Amino acid sequence: MSLFKSLGLNESIVKALVELGYEKPTSIQQKAVPQILSSFLDVKAFAQTGTGKTAAFSLPIIEQITSDNQTVQAIILSPTRELAVQIGNNIDDFSKYLPKVKTATVYGGANIEEQIRKLKKGVQIVIGTPGRTLDLIKRKALKLDNINWLVLDEADEMLNMGFKEDIDSILKSTPKEKQTLLFSATFPKEVEAIAKNYMNNPVEITSGEKNVGSDNVEHEFYLITDRTRYAALKRIADINPDIYGIIFCRTKRETQEVADKLITDGYSADSLHGDLSQNQRDSVMEKFRQKKIQMLVATDVAARGLDVDNLTHVINHKLPDQIENYTHRSGRTGRAGNLGISIALVTNKEKGKLHPIEKKLKKKFKQVAIPTGEEVCQKQLMHLIDRVKTIDVNNSQIESFLPKIYEKLDGLSREELIQRFVSLEFNSFLSYYENSRDLNELIEEKRGKGRASSENMTRFFINLGRKDKLNPARLIGLINDQNIGEAIDIGAIDILDTFSFFEVEKEFESETLDAFEKNTPDFNGRTVNIEITKKEKATGRSRKNKKGFSKGGNKPRRKSNPASGFGRRRK
Ligand code: AMP
Repeated sequence: MSLFKSLGLNESIVKALVELGYEKPTSIQQKAVPQILSSFLDVKAFAQTGTGKTAAFSLPIIEQITSDNQTVQAIILSPTRELAVQIGNNIDDFSKYLPKVKTATVYGGANIEEQIRKLKKGVQIVIGTPGRTLDLIKRKALKLDNINWLVLDEADEMLNMGFKEDIDSILKSTPKEKQTLLFSATFPKEVEAIAKNYMNNPVEITSGEKNVGSDNVEHEFYLITDRTRYAALKRIADINPDIYGIIFCRTKRETQEVADKLITDGYSADSLHGDLSQNQRDSVMEKFRQKKIQMLVATDVAARGLDVDNLTHVINHKLPDQIENYTHRSGRTGRAGNLGISIALVTNKEKGKLHPIEKKLKKKFKQVAIPTGEEVCQKQLMHLIDRVKTIDVNNSQIESFLPKIYEKLDGLSREELIQRFVSLEFNSFLSYYENSRDLNELIEEKRGKGRASSENMTRFFINLGRKDKLNPARLIGLINDQNIGEAIDIGAIDILDTFSFFEVEKEFESETLDAFEKNTPDFNGRTVNIEITKKEKATGRSRKNKKGFSKGGNKPRRKSNPASGFGRRRK
């Protein structure tokens, strides 16, 4: 017997589920379906997006609907239009072989008259956003006095979005005798209050542990600085040429900015947030679903309605303020049996936010180093070669061109051909990353910079500053180049506009002065001068100057667009 049938669902529903590819019920479905079918008790369910919660509440409702009666028997409230539409579509799919079951999905921003017409035709299940649902009740186009089921889906999000009053008003128009099903990923006190005020001794169901993330998700963090956040994001995208993911931001502005930068830099990305019109949002989501966009930069709320199962990555451009939102975000990947990676970009200061999340997840974040330019190039190159190996060759279409091409390439050896072809595709990438900084080293520098100088350090003035394109790495490189000592300690570095300061171990004070005097180095066309200067507060530690620390740092090179189409679909 089908596993769904054993939950108490009839043949028509089971047939539709089989066609949808649902082989066995998810954990929340196993618990909710028999419970709702066998009892009138209210249900309070802890379930996140991606657990199969929509089917968990809608299948038992469809099963029990009196389809010959055309009055509204169930109302499902959802926070966003997208989610409402998705639930409506799911229910239509589930009831494909029950033609008398009719649904209406109602939401703001769309023609209300059409929705009224649909309701007038007679439907048993209404799925709606709170604002529009209330509007229709007030216009007497929607009557909830005979409903048997009230579903509050993503209750936490509805309250977050300020729908508390609308929900209160809607609930007042429902009969006392009904079954209330409340689904929420988190249970802050506002949701508990709704449960307390509107539910009668509800049965609690959970799809696993409350607020615990999926087992299929690995959690990683990259240590960045605020200045390297975007560069790190790009490298993560570059080292994962097949990335298909959501980049979560905290504000609409941050979302738009990150998306704009990615698009300008040639990545396949777009933004999704509440400031876009409904049409724009629909179009972005559709493009993302169809994989015409690889990276969707989104706010938490806007991404709620998006139902995509095969995301490879979720990236927290900035961590959310509430821990629960992290589980929500990361739960967008690792769905339907797929593996997923949830990445957090954190500064040293933000790192502390990971511990409470780890406690909640009962999983540790793994620190991953930001890929170096070399690693990115290697990965992209291999990706290119893989694509060459697997590309479908359409012989009939290219056949007529081949003789001329062979003639033109005559005389080139196999090796030369490969080299040229790889260079053609790869040069722009290579030159972008040539001399690129190791972003992990920048963190070290920042740490070093934060420390006060120690007693046994000498502070030097140097006549170069930001205007000369000096930065800590280049300064360290410059000091290294003077061959002052094998492994001298360099302490705090302060780069100012036209001059800077750095510290060197006291015992190398005179060697440092001598070396600069003897070598009279030149930096970006300026002769370099250093002088011992008065020291500021003297505490803290210094750090070792490792050989090669400044590798590549002396020749600044920036290009806005690294890619020449490697694994990236351009728009
Ligand atoms: P939901 O949590 O309701 O948003 O569902 C998440 C995704 O899982 C949706 O794409 C559903 O179509 C899918 N899904 C739900 N239940 C099952 C199931 N039993 N088997 C396979 N896929 C499912």
